[in-house]
Amino acid sequence: MLAFIHQLWLRHCRWLALGGLVVLLVVFMEGAPRSLPGVSGQPALAISLPSPRPSLASLPTPRPHPLPSFLAQWHDPQARGDYFDQIQPSEWGYLVWSQFPVSVYIDPPPPDLGRFAAAQAATWQQAIAQAIAAWHPYIPLSVVETAAVADIRIWRSAPPIQRHPDGSLARIRAAETRYNLYTQRQADGRTRLRHRFDIYLSPNQPAAYTQATARHELGHALGIWGHSPDPGDVLYYAQVRQPPRISPRDLNTLKRIYEQPTCLGWPID
Ligand SMILES: [Zn+2]
Repeated sequence: MLAFIHQLWLRHCRWLALGGLVVLLVVFMEGAPRSLPGVSGQPALAISLPSPRPSLASLPTPRPHPLPSFLAQWHDPQARGDYFDQIQPSEWGYLVWSQFPVSVYIDPPPPDLGRFAAAQAATWQQAIAQAIAAWHPYIPLSVVETAAVADIRIWRSAPPIQRHPDGSLARIRAAETRYNLYTQRQADGRTRLRHRFDIYLSPNQPAAYTQATARHELGHALGIWGHSPDPGDVLYYAQVRQPPRISPRDLNTLKRIYEQPTCLGWPID
């Protein structure tokens, strides 16, 4: 199986020299809350920029992709606004998907878990599935079995430990979303600049927290690379006691993002 995945990997994915070039967005400040507080902490947006910057001989000219069908039809007659001004484009443009459905890999539970751990793992899986189901009507998603071919990978683990530039350890967090870039030669013979997200979500959280966090993190991975100042939005920067459903403001923001230019998904040759 590993050899097969390796071959698949070699055949389809030629990683740029961007392996270490990770941009990360950290979501909630504190790790391991035992309950959902009213609001926890200050905005927790932490972004580390790639260094050195990637140098592609010829980046695709940034331009928008056609809107996915739901967003093309989405209108908000009540004009409830958006938080598009809080969204950061990457150096390669907005982090939009252009091939649908977007594939999502969910880290399976390890084998031979004890009864309690197995139940906890099942709760985690269910929370992730609910988050995927919540976004699916707006951006088509499909769950895949192989991590190597997935656009978004959701890992059942605490985020990797980070160090500050001075070498000291960063605060332990319960969730984190990162992306990196690669080029991929596709069936039409063209090589495209693509991106992939990794979401790390601790398995040791209360179910309500996991579900709300998964919904929030998945919003980042679908392109909402920033935070809302409004607690009624899924992408609000902190936890709230009653986590909201995906709001019209989330969707208004998502639509504006998908109308923006990007290098991602366009041929580089
Ligand atoms: Zn966030």
